[in-house]
Amino acid sequence: MSHAVTYSATLVGLSDRVVRIEAEVSAGLPEFRLTGLPMATTGSTRDRVRAAILNSGHAWPDRRITVAVSLSEVPSYGCMLDVAIAMAILAAAGVIPAASIAHTAFVGELGLDGGLRHVRGLPSAIEALAAAGFRAIAVPVASIEHPGQRPVISATCLTDLIEQLARDTGPAEPGSPSSRTNAYHVDLADLPGDQAGKRALEISAAGGHHLLLHGHPAPAALADCLPDLLPPLDAADHSEVGEIYALANLPRRNRRRPLCTPHYSNTAATIFGLRSHGRIHPGAVSLAHAGVLFLDDAPAYALSILDGLRLPLDTGEVILADSDGIVHLPARFQLVLAASACSCGRENCRCRPAHRHRHLNRLTALRSRIAITTTAQPDDPNAAPGATTATVAARVAEARARAAYRLAGTPHRANGDIPALDLRTAHRLDPEALDPLDLPLRSGKITFAAMTQILRVAWTLADLRAAARPSKDDTHHALRLWQGAPL
Ligand SMILES: [Zn+2]
Repeated sequence: MSHAVTYSATLVGLSDRVVRIEAEVSAGLPEFRLTGLPMATTGSTRDRVRAAILNSGHAWPDRRITVAVSLSEVPSYGCMLDVAIAMAILAAAGVIPAASIAHTAFVGELGLDGGLRHVRGLPSAIEALAAAGFRAIAVPVASIEHPGQRPVISATCLTDLIEQLARDTGPAEPGSPSSRTNAYHVDLADLPGDQAGKRALEISAAGGHHLLLHGHPAPAALADCLPDLLPPLDAADHSEVGEIYALANLPRRNRRRPLCTPHYSNTAATIFGLRSHGRIHPGAVSLAHAGVLFLDDAPAYALSILDGLRLPLDTGEVILADSDGIVHLPARFQLVLAASACSCGRENCRCRPAHRHRHLNRLTALRSRIAITTTAQPDDPNAAPGATTATVAARVAEARARAAYRLAGTPHRANGDIPALDLRTAHRLDPEALDPLDLPLRSGKITFAAMTQILRVAWTLADLRAAARPSKDDTHHALRLWQGAPL
């Protein structure tokens, strides 16, 4: 393709205008002409777009490139058009398929490194594009204020954006740029230290166990890695998730498991969903269906919300009712909670122990559903560099395959789903492996519910080391993971 069109929006005067951008790549002396932008910004836009494309690993088309921006007036934020200009050039040069940019508008500034940057005025530009009927709007990830509220694709950089668009429009051709790029949002290997947090995340992914991250430095980044450690959605889940997102009027096209991260200030209706005048508005628990629900600073959520999570956790669905009737929506998710050591948030907290205790006590209602609690540990400076997301995802897939084989013929897919009764019958541990639980159980230190969580995790630990059955060590380790003891 030598000609391509993209759309963006920017503030002109007092209102936002949808902007059409046309790029043409033709034979002739290498040249990059950009028309339609104010003189003062043309040069810097050209430089940013060229550097961003080169630094994203793409060849700059060494031909005559003409880009025309259809703007009759001077825009307030011209740099907002960067991403749309770059995508038009890449499509015109045949670097990305034309189908991948159809129906999508692009807003955001480019950094010289290819990163997508937030600029002022983005929210109203997104509004203007949504009003103009664009089905998808690509924006810098930093501009997402309320995840899941707009038909947006959020990307960290050009490469990430191209990858997401390629996934949405079908398999990439072998050797095409998008098949070489990193598919992950944040790679585990790029997160510094926190070996304890990463190990807990791996075990939690392998067995589908609910997780509490206690005092970890970057819990949101860890949670962001979880969907990439989990296997992609299968056909049945993919279509179910698609239906939920369609109800919420949100685009959902790739098979990455959803990650929903509602803020603690959200209302119960936002978290659990709402049915009003016959219309169904899925909440965060349903938008996280078959994926991950992450609550950062979990003790800050209303107690009614924390308590209310028990129902979907136990039944895998929510019930929404109004005077017209009731509806059941799927809400089977993996829960990840993050809590700081104290509500004061200071590193050298001097609050009274009773105060700290009250802070974590708010999670009591959920405690029996949490299988793994991990407390941040000082990093070992001699530790080997952490494994990449791809490496850990492969280990997780292998462990999950072992569990799926054992659970064949049951409705359960992961160890975290095994009912308590089955852990005492079909999936009973050897008597010796149960030894470490004997004393804590008799002394009342662990309840029957805790015992269930511990046995499930013991199976996952066995699966991760490719053992046929959990050993005494696995049970002991699972007990410590449940207690939140340092490993
Ligand atoms: Zn404190």
